[in-house]
Amino acid sequence: MRRPIVTANWKMQKTTDEALAFAEVLLPLAAAPESGPVDVVIAPPFTCLDRLQIAIAGSGIDLAAQNVHPEPAGAFTGEISVDMLRDLGCRYTIVGHSERRALFGETNEFVARKAVALQEAGIRPILCVGESLEEREAGRTLEVVGASLAESLANVSAGAGEALVIAYEPVWAIGTGKTATPEIAQEVHHFIREQLEKRYPGVADSIRIQYGGSVKPENTRELMAQPDIDGALVGGASLDAASFAQIVRRSDQENS
Ligand code: PEP
Repeated sequence: MRRPIVTANWKMQKTTDEALAFAEVLLPLAAAPESGPVDVVIAPPFTCLDRLQIAIAGSGIDLAAQNVHPEPAGAFTGEISVDMLRDLGCRYTIVGHSERRALFGETNEFVARKAVALQEAGIRPILCVGESLEEREAGRTLEVVGASLAESLANVSAGAGEALVIAYEPVWAIGTGKTATPEIAQEVHHFIREQLEKRYPGVADSIRIQYGGSVKPENTRELMAQPDIDGALVGGASLDAASFAQIVRRSDQENS
């Protein structure tokens, strides 16, 4: 039984004061997530990590960074290392988000290096893959997702399944309001699990695969009801604490 994981990806949004106000609303709504059935993760901008770490201490909510550099230190102006993230209490870090791939030219090879560096520091990568609309319309979804997954996982381990989280994020569904149907998402999640089984025999059933792409409270239950969907990576709908809390609650298939 995989424990669902729901991650708020705030992208380049929220000042520290806004992040703290969010935490104040979310904490009572999150209903003791440390003992609850869903792992709750917030990925704020780097600038909020420090204060947010203090604000959510003891709540059971985990912190994630939205990015990292694979080198341990050096002349990389503007970059952040894995040790710096560990300092700030990050348990997870998003790598390979389609915005980083498209806007900042990140390759699968670079994404894999980041994931390996994170794991060496004891931080779990949330590794994103997904196809563009053009690729989907050309019938290349599984080919594209399979290749990106294989290259982005080079030298990445899965531990007993807990050391790695995959996020399937069809690029055409991110920030567009167009969610993949549960059937479309399930087909790709199932395919991803098959690829993981080949790479990590006997462990794939324990690796969580989040769906991301216009998840909102209204579509959470039907997505989470799919057998290979184990949570959500949420952008827009995670900016409002009440809406994010609803997505968390509806991701609990046992009790929702
Ligand atoms: C994302 O940025 O990872 C994302 C899924 O965004 P949205 O929920 O806004 O589509």
